[in-house]
Amino acid sequence: MNMASVKTDLYQGHDYYMMDDLLTEEHKLIRDAARAWIKQEVSPIIEEAAETQVFPKHLLPGLGAIGAFGPYIPEQYGGAGLDQISYGIIMQELERCDSGLRSTASVQSSLVMYPIWKYGTEEQKQKFLPKLASGEMMGCFGLTEPDHGSNPGGMVTHFKDEGDHYLLNGAKIWISNAPFADVAVVWAKDETGRIHGLLVERGMEGFSTPKMTGKWSLRASDTGELVFEDVKVPKENLLTGRSGLGAPLSCLDSARYGIAWGAIGAALDCYDTRLALCQAKGAVRATHCRVPAPTEETGRNDHRDHQGTAAHPSFGPIAQ
Ligand SMILES: Cc1cc2nc3c(=O)[nH]c(=O)nc-3n(C[C@H](O)[C@H](O)[C@H](O)COP(=O)(O)OP(=O)(O)OC[C@H]3O[C@@H](n4cnc5c(N)ncnc54)[C@H](O)[C@@H]3O)c2cc1C
Repeated sequence: MNMASVKTDLYQGHDYYMMDDLLTEEHKLIRDAARAWIKQEVSPIIEEAAETQVFPKHLLPGLGAIGAFGPYIPEQYGGAGLDQISYGIIMQELERCDSGLRSTASVQSSLVMYPIWKYGTEEQKQKFLPKLASGEMMGCFGLTEPDHGSNPGGMVTHFKDEGDHYLLNGAKIWISNAPFADVAVVWAKDETGRIHGLLVERGMEGFSTPKMTGKWSLRASDTGELVFEDVKVPKENLLTGRSGLGAPLSCLDSARYGIAWGAIGAALDCYDTRLALCQAKGAVRATHCRVPAPTEETGRNDHRDHQGTAAHPSFGPIAQ
């Protein structure tokens, strides 16, 4: 490992909008646990992972342990049975450290576990969800095709009913987690043109997942293609609970919720990094970075000015 890239992560959180007042003690404990694990296990190695574009697979059990994989999935299926806010908090902490890591967890949670939980059979839930929750098994979500990105309804990947199995042909591109996924939730058209989800498992003949390289962002997350050449998919691998384009789009809705939390995490880290730089330069109270110094009691920034007005880090008090 390039030790020059290893930095101590001193992030402490910022709460200018008093959002913590809306959280329960359990939410804060979940955040503390995620933050502590990230500081210890992820921050020291993530820059090198992004630079070399190698996904740090050794983090998967730890991600499972902090509840990053399907935290809202019920405990009977191996999930943590938490609420959606807990899911958001974990995504925020992950993206505070690295967007690619958050992407890996979002895909596993919202695009793989969510459709199996919502639209899968009881057997599928029992078979896949507990292992996906722990990180023992990883999944990916195949919707985008080479010629059909923004318009998934135009997809050409299709399957035929061959009696005792489905025969799947086609290809997907830009698929997060594909190179190492054990199971792919694949969206394909049946003979009438209706879209269904199929669970395609690594090792099925005719199924390959070539890795894509050269990304300019999310570099610590693995991306690949899914190629299906006469893949025989067992009939019990069909997601029977819902069909039509609304099924994959509902998964994307769930993912976007986590991504929104993640984006705030990225913004918090940008702010924290800038603040640390200002403090290091002794410029905390300079006009271009008007942030109150940490209070003696807490060591954290007192984000209220003397009139109790929330102070914006760069532009002074926010208009009420
Ligand atoms: C890092 C990464 C990870 C991804 N992970 C996954 C994944 O796990 N699973 C998955 O299924 N997909 C994944 N995707 C694919 C992603 O969802 C698609 O890139 C996205 O849907 C856009 O499709 P496209 O790249 O083909 O762009 P295009 O559809 O070719 O669009 C290119 C540009 O044209 C614009 N555009 C397109 N159509 C119109 C229109 N009608 N009017 C005006 N503007 C238009 C778009 O806004 C965009 O700016 C991933 C992509 C990336 C980059």
